[in-house]
Amino acid sequence: MTAVHHDRTELSVVIPMYNEEEVLPVLVDRLRAVLDGTGVRYEVVAVDDGSTDKTAARLEDLRAGWPQLRVVALRRNSGHQAALTAGLHSARGAYVASIDADLQDPPEKIPEMLALAKAQRLDIVYGIRSDRSTDTGFKRRTAGAYYWLIRRLVGKNVPSQAGDFRLLSREAVDALKTLPDQQQVYRLLVPWLGFPSGQVTYQRDERAAGETKYPLRKMVGLAITSITSFSAAPLRLATWLGVVSFFTCLAMLVFTLTAYALGNTVPGWTSLFTAMLFLGGVQLICFGLLGEYVGRIYTAVQQRPTYFIASDSGRPAEAAAPAATPAAPAAAEPLVSSGRPEAGQLPPA
Ligand code: UDP
Ligand code: MG
Repeated sequence: MTAVHHDRTELSVVIPMYNEEEVLPVLVDRLRAVLDGTGVRYEVVAVDDGSTDKTAARLEDLRAGWPQLRVVALRRNSGHQAALTAGLHSARGAYVASIDADLQDPPEKIPEMLALAKAQRLDIVYGIRSDRSTDTGFKRRTAGAYYWLIRRLVGKNVPSQAGDFRLLSREAVDALKTLPDQQQVYRLLVPWLGFPSGQVTYQRDERAAGETKYPLRKMVGLAITSITSFSAAPLRLATWLGVVSFFTCLAMLVFTLTAYALGNTVPGWTSLFTAMLFLGGVQLICFGLLGEYVGRIYTAVQQRPTYFIASDSGRPAEAAAPAATPAAPAAAEPLVSSGRPEAGQLPPA
């Protein structure tokens, strides 16, 4: 006998959406067929991440014909990870799946994930991209570099082709909600939790409609946050660069003194200039690194929520206390979550 939640939602499907009007009809068709087919009690939590197109209006229309569709609207565009946070915090299901709106990840895999989680009592089921041949070469290479670096810095338990298509148990979601991280990078935090996990592999499709909402700027941001939120190794890099330049300078010193003793001190322009450039560069890199971490401490200290819920169709307006404007779904949970990819928090000192 499986743990059946008669009176509550069994599955929540969280979908962050930013200007996805084009893909919405296709998404709804496919997703609804799949979810209705499972026979479980479900809700779809569409998080409208401050879309400026007709996403909000489309969702409102769709809701009329699909009672399980719940729309959580954020006040402004807060970024993919923050939208995901809003969705995870709002979801009520015993299991919570997250999936992108663009159908690159097949919704058909969700029942498979659910079945696997139940059968093997897993708290996390990752969707693993077995094949990214439909992604652009550029995306594949940058993603490859990202996972290579992350596995080196964060640890080998980060599945290398897992994005944000996954299923979490209620326990795992609640554990994530307790984390104080200002900027949550779920693909790292989830493996870090250490819950029993499994995988479902799939082939990543092309975006069904519309275009990517992840320009290079956001990708770089995500990579920087990922690294600085899990590792102080880059700071050590600064130390190593310092050590290297120190010894180089020692050698230079010997060279200069010898040259001085030999009396040929005038033609020193090249070496002088090289050393100056090198030291200047190293110092700037180190400053930048420090700044990166100071920035993370700064945002962590600010403790600002990374999203605000403007409305939630699954939570009637009267129920939301007037004072509870911040996106706190259930009262006592820490509201520090993630959004902008520039900063976050080191593990609490
Ligand atoms: N997204 C979002 N807020 C943003 C950017 C993206 O909610 O600021 C959503 C987007 O609607 C999609 C998901 O995040 O559901 C992944 O974005 P996208 O498919 O554009 O990224 P890619 O697959 O190109 O990396
Ligand atoms: Mg996509």
